[in-house]
Amino acid sequence: MKNCIFCKIIRGEIPSTVRYEDEKIIAFNDVNPMKDVHVLFIPKEHIEVFEKISDDSIFPSIRKAIQQIITEEELVGKGYKIVANGGGHQEVDHLHFHLIGPQK
Ligand code: 5GP
Ligand code: ZN
Repeated sequence: MKNCIFCKIIRGEIPSTVRYEDEKIIAFNDVNPMKDVHVLFIPKEHIEVFEKISDDSIFPSIRKAIQQIITEEELVGKGYKIVANGGGHQEVDHLHFHLIGPQK
């Protein structure tokens, strides 16, 4: 979508620190991290919000990418949160999952 900031990140029009990418999703560091580790995982398709997901195709990639960053960042045993804001409680209208940690 033309004016979506996350679509612009996917197209490389806005710089980001990419942490994972495959044919379905991309993951990059949040520009305003809430903890030392704050990574966003987004579908390459512009899906607006969680309730508009129509099939399961992104979830194998989402699972693999989140687990990869948990391992890379050594978050096991340190606490982390995985969050998807929606229903109007989101700043960016392009589906994204936050991984935030450590929580302890
Ligand atoms: P939301 O409230 O929609 O769940 O969270 C949106 C997140 O996107 C926020 O944590 C915010 O810091 C992040 N964000 C907004 N604009 C940009 C950007 O241009 N680049 C990056 N890397 N993160 C962004
Ligand atoms: Zn978008």
